[in-house]
Amino acid sequence: MAGLACARELVDAGVPVRVLERSGEPGGRLASIKRDGRMVDVGAAYVTADDPAFHGRLQTWRIDGLAHPWTDTFQGQHGTAPMRWSAPGGLRSLAADLARELQIGYRTEVTELPEAEAVVLAMPGPEALRLADIPAAREQVWSPVVTAILTYAERTWRPFAGAFVNDHPVLATVCDDGDRRGDLAPVLVAHSTPAFAAGHEGDDEGPAGMLLAEAVGEAIGIGGKPEVELIRWRYAAPRPGHGGFARHGNVYLAGDAFGRPRVQTAWLSGRAAARDLIQRRQSTDW
Ligand SMILES: Cc1cc2nc3c(=O)[nH]c(=O)nc-3n(C[C@H](O)[C@H](O)[C@H](O)COP(=O)(O)OP(=O)(O)OC[C@H]3O[C@@H](n4cnc5c(N)ncnc54)[C@H](O)[C@@H]3O)c2cc1C
Repeated sequence: MAGLACARELVDAGVPVRVLERSGEPGGRLASIKRDGRMVDVGAAYVTADDPAFHGRLQTWRIDGLAHPWTDTFQGQHGTAPMRWSAPGGLRSLAADLARELQIGYRTEVTELPEAEAVVLAMPGPEALRLADIPAAREQVWSPVVTAILTYAERTWRPFAGAFVNDHPVLATVCDDGDRRGDLAPVLVAHSTPAFAAGHEGDDEGPAGMLLAEAVGEAIGIGGKPEVELIRWRYAAPRPGHGGFARHGNVYLAGDAFGRPRVQTAWLSGRAAARDLIQRRQSTDW
């Protein structure tokens, strides 16, 4: 999201941009994958906005039919929460929308700093450090998460949007993906605690999947055994930072580590890096 927001801002200002993406599709942790003919959100669970510009971005996606308000109520939620938005085509479709009309080289892992007037590393700090020694990247602290897609034979629960499972050793959140997507498919998506993910890093799928499925069963009150698929996020969540973005010479670092780890933060960070770059390019110190 940071890289796409940055590239869009630069292109709109007439700056030529090349985007290189390791994966075969855009979105990074704004991730949805197709299972049984439907999209499942396996990274970010929803999108929230408290920044007016990002709220405007969400409204445009709403008008285009790509996103809609989903819920402001999760079980286990303390106090009031902002509206959570979901996407009928999966949250990755929002990244795909930003990616339209950009020149993107997919399946291209950057292994050294490319030759360019400027480079924006829009990725977790530890990954950026392999390419450039950016002091701000060294300061970032990241936690892992294991995501489990739980597919049940049938829906035996009422739609519940999502639940925060507070103070649980295994489970942090569980979302009703059928409710989120609106098709009421019997699919839940669970996110582990960072400690659980760290403790089960090298494990086979089996034990970690079973423990997550058991924890979800107990938390939501579901008896049946689901099919379980795990997705591991080594760099899932940074410790909240500040500053919008970092710059070291003509190398920028952008992403969700420059605020609270949210989609909105990544979008704002990429845009801020682009604006700085545009301004410096027009000035004499370029
Ligand atoms: C399990 C989970 C749940 C979450 N829940 C929410 C939520 O409910 N709401 C919310 O707002 N946020 C949530 N988040 C956070 C949100 O997903 C992120 O804040 C946001 O997507 C980060 O975007 P980004 O652009 O900073 O980084 P990323 O999405 O990590 O993007 C980095 C990109 O760089 C690419 N890349 C990395 N290294 C290289 C390289 N060497 N060469 C080429 N490409 C490279 C990666 O493939 C990736 O596409 C969640 C995250 C996770 C993992």
